[in-house]
Amino acid sequence: MLSNHYFIREVQQIINAGGVIETDDNISVLLTDSRRITNASEGLFFALSGRRNGHEFVAEAYAAGVRNFVVTHQTKIKMPGANFLLVDNVLDALQKLAAYHRNRFNLEVIGITGSNGKTIVKEWLYQLLISDKTIVRNPKSYNSQIGVPLSVWQITDKDDLGIFEAGISTVNEMERLETIIKPSIGVLTHIGPAHDEGFKDRKEKVLEKLKLFTHCKLLIHNYDQLIDYKKHIPVKDRFSWSRRFNQADLYVFAETVISRNYYLRAKYQGKEIECLIPFMDEASIENAIVCWATMLAMGYSPVEVDKRIERLSPVSMRLELKNGINDCSVIDDSYNSDVQSLEIALNFLNQQNQHPTRTLILSDIYQSGLEQEVLYRQVADMIKSRKVNKFIGVGEALSAHKDLFTLEKKYFYPDTTVLLQHLNELNLDNETILIKGARSFEFERISSALSLKAHETVMEISLNALLNNLNFYKSKLKPGVRIMAMVKAFSYGSGTFEVANMLQYNKVDYLAVAYIDEGVALRQTGITLPVMVLNPELSAFDKLIEFKLEPEIFSFNLLDEFVKYAQSHHLNNYPVHLKIDTGMHRLGFEEQDIDMLCDLIEENRYIKVQSVFSHLVASDAPEHDDFTRKQIRRFEKAFTKIEKAIGYKVIKHISNTGGIIRWPSAHFDMVRLGIGLYGIDGSVPKGSGVLQPIATLKTSVSQVRKVVANDTIGYNRNGKLTHNGKIATVRIGYADGYLRAFGNGVGKMLIKGKLVPTVGNISMDMTMLDVSNVDVREGDDVIVFNDQLTIEELAREIGTIPYEILTNISQRVKRVYFYE
Ligand SMILES: *Cc1c(COP(=O)(O)O)cnc(C)c1O
Repeated sequence: MLSNHYFIREVQQIINAGGVIETDDNISVLLTDSRRITNASEGLFFALSGRRNGHEFVAEAYAAGVRNFVVTHQTKIKMPGANFLLVDNVLDALQKLAAYHRNRFNLEVIGITGSNGKTIVKEWLYQLLISDKTIVRNPKSYNSQIGVPLSVWQITDKDDLGIFEAGISTVNEMERLETIIKPSIGVLTHIGPAHDEGFKDRKEKVLEKLKLFTHCKLLIHNYDQLIDYKKHIPVKDRFSWSRRFNQADLYVFAETVISRNYYLRAKYQGKEIECLIPFMDEASIENAIVCWATMLAMGYSPVEVDKRIERLSPVSMRLELKNGINDCSVIDDSYNSDVQSLEIALNFLNQQNQHPTRTLILSDIYQSGLEQEVLYRQVADMIKSRKVNKFIGVGEALSAHKDLFTLEKKYFYPDTTVLLQHLNELNLDNETILIKGARSFEFERISSALSLKAHETVMEISLNALLNNLNFYKSKLKPGVRIMAMVKAFSYGSGTFEVANMLQYNKVDYLAVAYIDEGVALRQTGITLPVMVLNPELSAFDKLIEFKLEPEIFSFNLLDEFVKYAQSHHLNNYPVHLKIDTGMHRLGFEEQDIDMLCDLIEENRYIKVQSVFSHLVASDAPEHDDFTRKQIRRFEKAFTKIEKAIGYKVIKHISNTGGIIRWPSAHFDMVRLGIGLYGIDGSVPKGSGVLQPIATLKTSVSQVRKVVANDTIGYNRNGKLTHNGKIATVRIGYADGYLRAFGNGVGKMLIKGKLVPTVGNISMDMTMLDVSNVDVREGDDVIVFNDQLTIEELAREIGTIPYEILTNISQRVKRVYFYE
């Protein structure tokens, strides 16, 4: 039987690798992340060089039981029993192996690319075709140079259709993906501005994307988008669709809304056909038309396609992390259920440290193509390796296989309704609960029973954006320079353990908070990274020590108090951080204090100087560059003296976000990354997509009313319209952090993509907007800030800085976290 099992000697030949093989192990799993090892004994670990050299993780993977590695060089550490395949380029090797694997199968493969909609179209085609075929596809949106090979690796001889999406961000990437996917049918989705920065111009981008279709026998595309590129399309047999041109094979000529569905009529093969799409938003409509065209092009009858499209269900690739009842956190992934996405969700669950118990609520898994016994054994193994403490299975199949699950706390229910009836008996308390179910199980009912009701003003935080920003700054540092992430003031308003967990998992070196209680809160939610406290209060030293937090020492008085405390509590070599004032004049030892400071800390065995640092007052402001240089020189002088006096090396750091890009010479041993992590940095060019704002503040319309010109609106009669018009009252006010300064037209919000100004004074819990020119209904979403209407923009409107806007959002506004 053909399958994805290879002997390591075969792999060596396929990827043309050097190295000596000791035992000819069987390989079935490709691993690229040492934190996510499954089935270690059959795993092959690729030491990919990303921002860190993957070779650093070889030892970690070895410790987790992996014995087979693809590397560019062998590490010095002895690893008995391990096979090392030596190659020039590890990524090339991964891709070569995947391409080889793909070529062994003769199945039909649909290859999808485009700027937007790839994942939705892939998932919808899957929904539309799964009743006829056994389908293999990318998990989630694994469409990168690494994600595609890992996806293709899943093909077995049981599959009769592959659906794979390919994503690129610059030139010369598609050809590689083409050889791995080898699609026979191509689908081009919407082409928009995403990743424009990676290409010379739009044409270059389109031509690069078209390379995916080099060996396709059929291509489905939007007629309008390829008009200018006709002679570059590499496929003869094409099927086009259009909403504007009747030359297209599928010409959509009429569109109407029928009771929250979207009804389309089109011309196809000289006849009139129709299609009802169960969605109303523009992106879904276009994606559904792409699917419609693809199904017709594949030979399905218009009536059959219409029937299937009507039943499409929404696709969410996002995990949602939110506050639950009884001190629980809820991770909501109630849209789909398959083994690959279960694994991804379990990794995310495993990353959560805030509660002692990790709980999984899982439904039966459909359409896996595996025998049930094999499938649920796989699920049980995965649950075990991801350290799930409590398992709640819903469905007949899971119930029938309950013996496969070996954990102590396991519960099974035939369906969702029965589980909900018994919810109280489960005593869910202080746990992280992952809810993951196939669509038909309606797990959103469980999610809604377990989540705290958020009122309609919420701040959504994208953990992917946070990670993207972290990686952006990492890439700007020389190897060895550490990162201290600033998570003071609830991570600039963005969250506590949610943000810290992500940072810990992604290996920042240090965290910093303003006060001791902030550090205690992190420890209590399972954060083990070293934590520096910027402003430690004498009254809380006990807590500082109990929770292993490291104080900043900024004055002789504080030094004296801390040393006395350390002495009386028998502390030795307790790590402290010395703050030097090089010009901020806020906290710290000044130049003339350094000699005396050295006298006091020399041979002081109660404390150990972990780091010496200072703070730049204007690292982002070119007009103060001379002053910044002066600060850096003063800092160098100070730490040189200190290191000489104490006789050992310390970590030296002075750069905040503004300094990372603008002052590479001031990185020293560590940088302190604050606002940039949250997506804001004036020294990174706008619109370049390298930094992503992590927060979206959303509210909703509670009432819409007509007003006539000169009627006054709100407190003190400050607001009026100059014309007859409409105002909308929205659910956010100054108590939520939307400051009064935004009132009377200064601030603007986004409704249905249109900017609308405030009218009158901002109230404590409400704001009025002039919506005369927008079609607004009660309940509509309102954006206060997001990646279009930025926090920087809001700050400019009221003459403040982004820091203040972010940290002002009150704790009354619920935070919801997304991870894709
Ligand atoms: C807040 C803070 C930072 C981070 O500054 P950003 O400008 O947000 O990067 C760095 N160092 C110290 C001492 C801070 O208090």
